[in-house]
Amino acid sequence: MVDITVMGAGIFGLSVAWTCAKRGARVRVIDPNGPGAGASGGIVGAMAPHVPELWNSKKAFQLDSLLMAGDFWAEVAEVSGCAPGYARLGRLQPIADAAALALAHERTQNAATLWQGQADWRVLSASGAWCPPSATGQIIHDTPHRRACIRVRHAQPSLRPCAHAVPRL
Ligand SMILES: Cc1cc2nc3c(=O)[nH]c(=O)nc-3n(C[C@H](O)[C@H](O)[C@H](O)COP(=O)(O)OP(=O)(O)OC[C@H]3O[C@@H](n4cnc5c(N)ncnc54)[C@H](O)[C@@H]3O)c2cc1C
Repeated sequence: MVDITVMGAGIFGLSVAWTCAKRGARVRVIDPNGPGAGASGGIVGAMAPHVPELWNSKKAFQLDSLLMAGDFWAEVAEVSGCAPGYARLGRLQPIADAAALALAHERTQNAATLWQGQADWRVLSASGAWCPPSATGQIIHDTPHRRACIRVRHAQPSLRPCAHAVPRL
């Protein structure tokens, strides 16, 4: 007997199942192909923020999600014993020309308001061996950007305490 059946053991299905189970629901996940068989089994793991302009509720929701991700994945790592590869590394972007530089500065101002001090969008001088080449000599560094190598195929053990089964049909 279960309270909730989740169809699909990708990152969304597993995250929903995990969250429901933490709230006390008896959860079942069904996926004919097993965990991580779809897009979530891919190799890229960039979690990128929307640029700070033309703001709306969807962009605000996504920023909130990014800011909550650290606690979420830390708990998954603790319960599962599997490191998900999560890190808040930020992102560096070269700035190609004067127009892009002006836009980058505008977004710095927008970020100060829209990201409410919880994350930054900075224009910095491009220097140091680690820095990507940039035609203007300036780069953008945004701090909400995350990296996650979520190994969904290996994440199943973290769900065992909560999920009744991930049957292969
Ligand atoms: C190569 C690649 C790189 C990517 N890089 C990034 C990135 O850097 N950053 C980013 O944010 N996003 C990235 N994405 C997108 C991201 O991977 C997807 O948005 C995300 O994984 C979707 O997760 P999901 O759980 O909705 O779907 P999926 O992971 O596709 O899971 C769906 C699951 O449902 C199952 N299923 C299908 N039909 C049924 C059914 N009838 N009953 C039960 N189960 C069913 C499938 O077997 C599958 O396991 C990338 C995608 C790819 C392919």
